Amino acid sequence: MPNEKGILFVISGPSGVGKGTLRKELFKRIEGLTYSVSCTTRQPRAGEQDGVDYKFINLETFMSYVEENKFLEWAKVHGNYYGTLESDVRKLLDEGHDVVLEIDVQGALQVKNKMPEAILVFIMPPSEEELVRRLDRRGTESDRELEERIRNAKREILESKRYDFIVVNDDLESAVKELEQIFKDVKTKKPENNRC
Ligand code: ADP
Ligand code: 5GP
Repeated sequence: MPNEKGILFVISGPSGVGKGTLRKELFKRIEGLTYSVSCTTRQPRAGEQDGVDYKFINLETFMSYVEENKFLEWAKVHGNYYGTLESDVRKLLDEGHDVVLEIDVQGALQVKNKMPEAILVFIMPPSEEELVRRLDRRGTESDRELEERIRNAKREILESKRYDFIVVNDDLESAVKELEQIFKDVKTKKPENNRC
């Protein structure tokens, strides 16, 4: 078991930009990363597993966690609630694991406030048109939900200047490589500054 504390990486950006796709690719290429599974009140999509993709909880339970201050961050995103349990993250970091959160912009900025040493990476779409195409192709949202996600994307992109790094996800392979390099650089070049 490693005895140094781990580094907290936060990947965020608009819905449909490719965060999940990039994160999964990154995990294949970098050893020792741990994904912190979020809580959500949204319904599972086909194929999603409780405890793997999300911890699916009801609104009452979610709000009791808010009351008890259990979340490192939480937010209402596209009509559902999402949150990261602080105890999960702290435990993993204390055990020396590098932890990755894949969360929305409101949540990422809350993490930066509470843990300034966290590394925030914003995944940027190459264009609005491409973002719409990707959401359309994924086919998991209704037209109304899709419109809301595009509206939110415009607001989220304005916050990208508050991030440590911005990666444009145009060509997938190039974006994965860039992300991989950022993670490796942070680990090798600034290990002391970014221990949580
Ligand atoms: P997010 O997790 O940000 O909501 P996803 O990872 O689900 O986004 O990606 C949304 C859709 O875009 C998926 O169908 C995915 O296969 C596709 N996608 C992701 N990255 C790229 C890319 N670089 N080029 C083309 N399509 C992509
Ligand atoms: P989806 O419902 O498509 O899985 O996720 C919708 C949005 O919620 C995405 O932008 C995703 O990154 C974000 N999200 C997932 N988990 C969390 C979380 O724990 N906290 C916050 N703030 N956002 C989250």
